[in-house]
Amino acid sequence: MSIPQQDHTYYMRKAIHQAKRAASIGEVPIGCVIVYEGKVIGRGFNRRLTSHSTLAHAEIIAIRQACRKLGDWRLEGCTMYVTLEPCQMCSGAIVQARIDRVVVGAANPKAGCAGSILNLLQMKEFNHQVEIVNDVCTAECSTMLTDFFRDMRAREHGRGVAALFSDAFRGTL
Ligand SMILES: [Zn+2]
Repeated sequence: MSIPQQDHTYYMRKAIHQAKRAASIGEVPIGCVIVYEGKVIGRGFNRRLTSHSTLAHAEIIAIRQACRKLGDWRLEGCTMYVTLEPCQMCSGAIVQARIDRVVVGAANPKAGCAGSILNLLQMKEFNHQVEIVNDVCTAECSTMLTDFFRDMRAREHGRGVAALFSDAFRGTL
Protein backbone atom coordinates (compact mmCIF):
# COMPACT_ATOMS: atom_id res chain seq x y z
CA MET A 1 0.00 0.00 0.00
CA SER A 2 1.56 3.28 -0.98
CA ILE A 3 1.33 6.31 1.29
CA PRO A 4 0.70 9.80 -0.14
CA GLN A 5 3.64 12.21 -0.08
CA GLN A 6 1.79 14.68 2.19
CA ASP A 7 1.44 11.94 4.81
CA HIS A 8 5.18 11.30 4.63
CA THR A 9 5.79 14.99 5.21
CA TYR A 10 3.33 15.03 8.14
CA TYR A 11 5.08 12.17 9.97
CA MET A 12 8.58 13.35 9.07
CA ARG A 13 7.76 16.63 10.82
CA LYS A 14 7.09 14.59 13.95
CA ALA A 15 10.52 12.96 13.56
CA ILE A 16 12.02 16.46 13.13
CA HIS A 17 10.31 17.50 16.36
CA GLN A 18 12.06 14.58 18.10
CA ALA A 19 15.38 15.64 16.58
CA LYS A 20 14.90 19.14 17.99
CA ARG A 21 14.43 17.64 21.43
CA ALA A 22 17.85 16.02 21.00
CA ALA A 23 19.41 19.36 20.01
CA SER A 24 17.83 21.05 23.03
CA ILE A 25 19.88 18.82 25.35
CA GLY A 26 23.08 19.17 23.33
CA GLU A 27 22.74 15.90 21.41
CA VAL A 28 23.23 15.63 17.64
CA PRO A 29 19.70 16.26 16.27
CA ILE A 30 18.44 12.95 14.92
CA GLY A 31 14.83 11.96 15.48
CA CYS A 32 12.56 9.08 14.62
CA VAL A 33 8.93 8.01 14.80
CA ILE A 34 7.29 4.67 13.97
CA VAL A 35 3.77 4.67 12.56
CA TYR A 36 1.26 1.81 12.61
CA GLU A 37 -2.20 2.18 11.09
CA GLY A 38 -1.82 5.95 11.04
CA LYS A 39 -0.78 6.21 14.70
CA VAL A 40 2.63 7.02 16.11
CA ILE A 41 3.54 4.04 18.32
CA GLY A 42 7.22 4.74 18.85
CA ARG A 43 9.30 7.89 19.25
CA GLY A 44 12.98 8.40 19.80
CA PHE A 45 15.73 10.95 19.61
CA ASN A 46 19.46 10.54 19.78
CA ARG A 47 20.66 10.34 23.41
CA ARG A 48 24.09 8.83 22.95
CA LEU A 49 25.83 11.40 25.16
CA THR A 50 23.23 11.74 27.90
CA SER A 51 22.64 7.97 28.17
CA HIS A 52 26.36 7.15 27.94
CA SER A 53 25.32 4.47 25.49
CA THR A 54 26.47 3.48 22.03
CA LEU A 55 23.04 1.95 21.56
CA ALA A 56 20.99 5.08 22.28
CA HIS A 57 20.27 5.97 18.66
CA ALA A 58 16.85 7.46 17.86
CA GLU A 59 15.76 4.42 15.84
CA ILE A 60 16.64 1.88 18.55
CA ILE A 61 14.74 3.88 21.19
CA ALA A 62 11.70 4.14 18.88
CA ILE A 63 11.83 0.42 18.01
CA ARG A 64 11.94 -0.51 21.69
CA GLN A 65 8.91 1.68 22.41
CA ALA A 66 6.93 0.39 19.39
CA CYS A 67 7.63 -3.26 20.34
CA ARG A 68 6.40 -2.56 23.86
CA LYS A 69 3.28 -0.88 22.49
CA LEU A 70 2.42 -3.72 20.08
CA GLY A 71 3.51 -6.43 22.52
CA ASP A 72 5.55 -8.05 19.77
CA TRP A 73 9.16 -8.07 18.57
CA ARG A 74 7.84 -7.94 14.99
CA LEU A 75 6.88 -4.52 13.68
CA GLU A 76 5.16 -5.76 10.53
CA GLY A 77 2.90 -3.15 8.96
CA CYS A 78 4.97 -0.31 10.43
CA THR A 79 6.65 2.61 8.72
CA MET A 80 9.67 4.33 10.28
CA TYR A 81 10.38 8.02 9.69
CA VAL A 82 13.92 9.04 10.49
CA THR A 83 15.62 12.39 9.90
CA LEU A 84 19.01 10.87 8.99
CA GLU A 85 19.78 7.70 7.05
CA PRO A 86 20.17 4.81 9.54
CA CYS A 87 23.61 3.44 10.47
CA GLN A 88 24.58 -0.24 10.27
CA MET A 89 23.30 -0.99 13.80
CA CYS A 90 19.90 0.62 13.24
CA SER A 91 19.52 -0.82 9.73
CA GLY A 92 20.19 -4.26 11.25
CA ALA A 93 17.55 -3.66 13.91
CA ILE A 94 15.06 -2.45 11.28
CA VAL A 95 15.50 -5.70 9.30
CA GLN A 96 15.29 -7.75 12.53
CA ALA A 97 12.05 -5.97 13.48
CA ARG A 98 10.64 -6.61 9.98
CA ILE A 99 9.58 -3.02 9.54
CA ASP A 100 7.85 -2.59 6.16
CA ARG A 101 9.12 0.79 5.13
CA VAL A 102 11.69 3.43 6.12
CA VAL A 103 11.29 7.05 5.11
CA VAL A 104 14.62 8.91 5.24
CA GLY A 105 15.09 12.67 5.56
CA ALA A 106 18.77 13.33 4.84
CA ALA A 107 21.30 10.86 3.43
CA ASN A 108 24.39 10.09 5.51
CA PRO A 109 27.32 9.53 3.14
CA LYS A 110 29.70 8.81 6.06
CA ALA A 111 27.70 6.14 7.89
CA GLY A 112 24.41 5.45 6.12
CA CYS A 113 23.47 1.83 5.55
CA ALA A 114 20.25 2.41 3.68
CA GLY A 115 22.00 2.97 0.38
CA SER A 116 24.96 5.31 0.99
CA ILE A 117 27.73 2.94 2.14
CA LEU A 118 25.73 -0.27 2.15
CA ASN A 119 22.11 -1.07 1.63
CA LEU A 120 21.43 -3.45 4.49
CA LEU A 121 17.69 -2.81 4.16
CA GLN A 122 17.42 -4.43 0.76
CA MET A 123 19.82 -7.37 0.69
CA LYS A 124 18.14 -10.24 -1.05
CA GLU A 125 20.22 -12.67 1.04
CA PHE A 126 18.28 -11.67 4.19
CA ASN A 127 14.78 -12.96 4.85
CA HIS A 128 13.30 -9.45 4.96
CA GLN A 129 13.64 -6.43 2.72
CA VAL A 130 12.51 -2.93 3.58
CA GLU A 131 11.01 -0.40 1.21
CA ILE A 132 12.98 2.87 1.27
CA VAL A 133 11.47 6.30 0.55
CA ASN A 134 14.02 9.10 0.22
CA ASP A 135 13.86 12.87 -0.12
CA VAL A 136 11.18 13.72 2.44
CA CYS A 137 11.89 17.10 4.16
CA THR A 138 15.53 16.61 3.16
CA ALA A 139 16.52 20.28 3.30
CA GLU A 140 15.06 20.75 6.78
CA CYS A 141 16.68 17.56 8.11
CA SER A 142 20.14 18.38 6.80
CA THR A 143 19.98 22.08 7.74
CA MET A 144 19.15 21.07 11.30
CA LEU A 145 22.40 19.07 11.43
CA THR A 146 24.62 21.69 9.79
CA ASP A 147 23.17 24.42 12.07
CA PHE A 148 23.83 22.26 15.12
CA PHE A 149 27.47 21.64 14.22
CA ARG A 150 28.00 25.30 13.27
CA ASP A 151 26.62 26.44 16.64
CA MET A 152 28.71 23.85 18.45
CA ARG A 153 31.89 25.04 16.75
CA ALA A 154 30.97 28.63 17.59
CA ARG A 155 30.44 27.70 21.26
CA GLU A 156 33.75 25.85 21.37
CA HIS A 157 35.49 28.80 19.80
CA GLY A 158 33.82 31.05 22.42
CA ARG A 159 35.07 28.81 25.22
CA GLY A 160 38.56 28.83 23.73
CA VAL A 161 38.59 32.63 23.68
CA ALA A 162 37.20 32.77 27.25
CA ALA A 163 39.98 30.43 28.44
CA LEU A 164 42.62 32.64 26.83
CA PHE A 165 41.20 35.70 28.62
CA SER A 166 41.06 33.98 31.98
CA ASP A 167 44.69 32.82 31.54
CA ALA A 168 45.73 36.35 30.66
CA PHE A 169 44.00 37.79 33.74
CA ARG A 170 45.26 35.16 36.12
CA GLY A 171 48.67 36.80 36.29
CA THR A 172 47.28 40.25 37.11
CA LEU A 173 44.54 39.47 39.64
ZN1 LIG B 1 21.95 4.15 14.27
